[in-house]
Amino acid sequence: MEKYSSEQIDKLLEQKREDGKLKSRKNCTHKDIVKSFLNGKAHSYVCMECGYTNKSRAAFFSYPESDRQMG
Ligand SMILES: [Zn+2]
Repeated sequence: MEKYSSEQIDKLLEQKREDGKLKSRKNCTHKDIVKSFLNGKAHSYVCMECGYTNKSRAAFFSYPESDRQMG
């Protein structure tokens, strides 16, 4: 997993938004997740495709597409 500062991520997401490349969160499968660092500490996880941010990595996998039963 790539690591970025939260500042870098903000810039990258802003650029994507301007380019119209930012996906809708509803349609995103959150495959491009990076770790965001704030003041040198792991802060949260961010999907670089749609900008969805959450402190819990599990939150990215609670979508219907990946919500398959195990075993
Ligand atoms: Zn996403």
